[in-house]
Amino acid sequence: MPSSVSIYDSAAIDRLRAELKFEPRRLRALRTVYFKKFLGNEAALAELPEEVREPFAQRVVFHPLAVAESADSQLDGATKLVLRTTAGYAIETVIMRTGTGRVSLCVSSQVGCAAACGFCATGQMGVAKNLTSAELLDQVVLAGEHMCNEERAVRNIVFMGMGEPFHNEAAIYEAITALLAPELFHYPPRRILISTVGIPDAMLRCARRFPALNLALSLHSARQATREKLIPLAAKYPLDDLRAALAQLHEIQRQPVMIEYLMLAGVNDSLADAADLAAWLEGLDVHVNLIPYNSIAAVPNWQTTERPERDAFATVLRKAGFVVTIRYSLGADIAAACGQLVQTENRQLAQQQAMSAQ
Ligand code: SF4
Repeated sequence: MPSSVSIYDSAAIDRLRAELKFEPRRLRALRTVYFKKFLGNEAALAELPEEVREPFAQRVVFHPLAVAESADSQLDGATKLVLRTTAGYAIETVIMRTGTGRVSLCVSSQVGCAAACGFCATGQMGVAKNLTSAELLDQVVLAGEHMCNEERAVRNIVFMGMGEPFHNEAAIYEAITALLAPELFHYPPRRILISTVGIPDAMLRCARRFPALNLALSLHSARQATREKLIPLAAKYPLDDLRAALAQLHEIQRQPVMIEYLMLAGVNDSLADAADLAAWLEGLDVHVNLIPYNSIAAVPNWQTTERPERDAFATVLRKAGFVVTIRYSLGADIAAACGQLVQTENRQLAQQQAMSAQ
């Protein structure tokens, strides 16, 4: 029996077209319907000559992920899709409808995460498995199809969900290449953002390869000891190396890097922390984003900074000349902070698989 091919494997799909002997323009039409209009696989197949629809459909896997659950926030415009991989793991993709009417999609890059940040449900899963590029792209398509029902489209794609994108570099680059490709998704690079806890070499590699793409650094503290407490991986990548990478990035990209700063009461939110941050950022082209914290059950002791302290922190940075925004976490009532819904389930599945492998 001939092997099946993924709709996201362009070279294999081109070979299948040649094998089934239908015109290239029919495949282009299918791709437009599937990747740009998000009308689904049935509508896409309707673009093919009738006699090849069935053989094409039998050979092609359209969705490597299955939608297991969808939860709408009653507080704001977030929708969380829980998606299942063929191996049985659950991942989350979050659709964020902002006040301006724009829609952003928060894509997961891994099941679990080896960065093991103490404040993050994904980091507590005790698993770290890379998603394939097809699984990354399928999140975009499934969210696009979801939004199609509302006659809206996903405008921005942020790799800020479960996982550290630069621990899955090859699949991320493959997916971004497809997202930018005119014959596939054709997203403008300025509408794609990769958020990392800070792996300097990878940040530079990414910027060289995709200079117009946006990068965000989850800094969370300009003090090495505090940063390591929040992000264990930070011990491997000291602040001095990160700062040097940010300076080099500016040479390559000539656009500001987003600095993400999660605000945790009594941990990293004092005025002295703000002054240290301003000093650390001096001379860099950055935009600082202060993020109120969504508490998670796994670490109930950490709480978000209250508004007056948050505003005072922002004032210190603004007086130092930085552009500062405060981003409210969307979907607090549906546990939209990454990995919260699927944490226990994935940990159990990983344990079962480890035991059956023994
Ligand atoms: S915050 Fe991001 S990098 Fe840190 S553990 Fe969670 S998913 Fe990984």
